[in-house]
Amino acid sequence: MMYRKISAHYIVIDKSTTIKNGIITVDNNGEILEIKSLGNDMQETAGVEFYSGVLVPGFVNAHCHLELSHMKDKISKKTGLEGFISAIQNLRTASKDEIVKKSQKADKEMISNGIVAVGDIANTSHSIETKLKSAINYHTFVELFTSNLNIVNDVFEAGLNLEDLFIKSGLSASLTAHAPYSVNPKLFNLITEHLSKSNSVISIHNQECESENELYINRSGALYEMFKSKGIALQGIPTTGKSSIVSITEFLNPNDNTILVHNTYTKQEDIEFATKHLNNIYWCFCPNANLYIENKLPDIETFRSKKQKICIGTDSLASNSQLSVLDELKVISEAFPNIELPELISWASINGAEALNINKLLGSLEINKRPGINLIENINLNNLKLTDESRVKKIV
Ligand SMILES: [Zn+2]
Repeated sequence: MMYRKISAHYIVIDKSTTIKNGIITVDNNGEILEIKSLGNDMQETAGVEFYSGVLVPGFVNAHCHLELSHMKDKISKKTGLEGFISAIQNLRTASKDEIVKKSQKADKEMISNGIVAVGDIANTSHSIETKLKSAINYHTFVELFTSNLNIVNDVFEAGLNLEDLFIKSGLSASLTAHAPYSVNPKLFNLITEHLSKSNSVISIHNQECESENELYINRSGALYEMFKSKGIALQGIPTTGKSSIVSITEFLNPNDNTILVHNTYTKQEDIEFATKHLNNIYWCFCPNANLYIENKLPDIETFRSKKQKICIGTDSLASNSQLSVLDELKVISEAFPNIELPELISWASINGAEALNINKLLGSLEINKRPGINLIENINLNNLKLTDESRVKKIV
């Protein structure tokens, strides 16, 4: 059996364990056989590959839309979510060839950025070919939405057919709901009833703009006005007088893994309400997309003070200039410099793997796992902080 011994200045094992000058032994399938701490005693160096920097597990990108990759650089920045949604709808007309070509390019970019697994949103079958050929472990969320009560059954049927297409191709897939403001209660219930029969992960865009809350509270705000101007009455979306997440928790299965994406306008009382009703919430942050669309970051400290599970997504190239989990961490590290690297790494790896139910094999540097190994270079080795120049290199 061929194997490699890999070492660097530091190895991040989990959010509270970092090994100095350790050695990881992997076999030629990438399975971890041994992790040894040598401390300052670096005698056993024969055949060891030594790297300058920090070794971390392969990254899990908990939120992406591969099929939107062709929209890179096509949407203006800082238009607010209502402007972004309008722009997306106008760009949905690209040819399948173009969509597939750009998806393949994006898939390669993610691999070279050390991403080993992706929770990917799909509205079409265009990403199947790319996913089948990829080394990345994809879970596809077949995303449904409609506020129109008259077409709920048709939307749900189409979703089941698309889910079936992915699964019959040999890919992991499940149904999901787009966002609180775009899915009426009847469709929510159909989706979560269907989910309760399987392994059950749901991924919902949540509180990406303040006007999402306003829409639920009293039918006002930029998002509501945008839909109104397009002749979309939202007659199937109730007015509840409450924030959007508070308004929809009753439609979700309490024990499903619930990935809430963005959370840019989520407040402490929303977190308290949601965690009272849902047992397995993963708050997924996509900071570069938040800066692109709304120019605002979520209140990450409040989630930390409430001991919440956090994971990381890149969102799509429609609202990001690259698909790199490390680049998302760099934005967070700069805005919240007190958060230590091992904690950030746990968000970028094990938490996303748990959210997607793939933590048996992926997400952490542990014996018998095959998590992939990344090197983070150009890190400040005195305080283990990411810098502007930090880069990720896929080692295994
Ligand atoms: Zn998204």
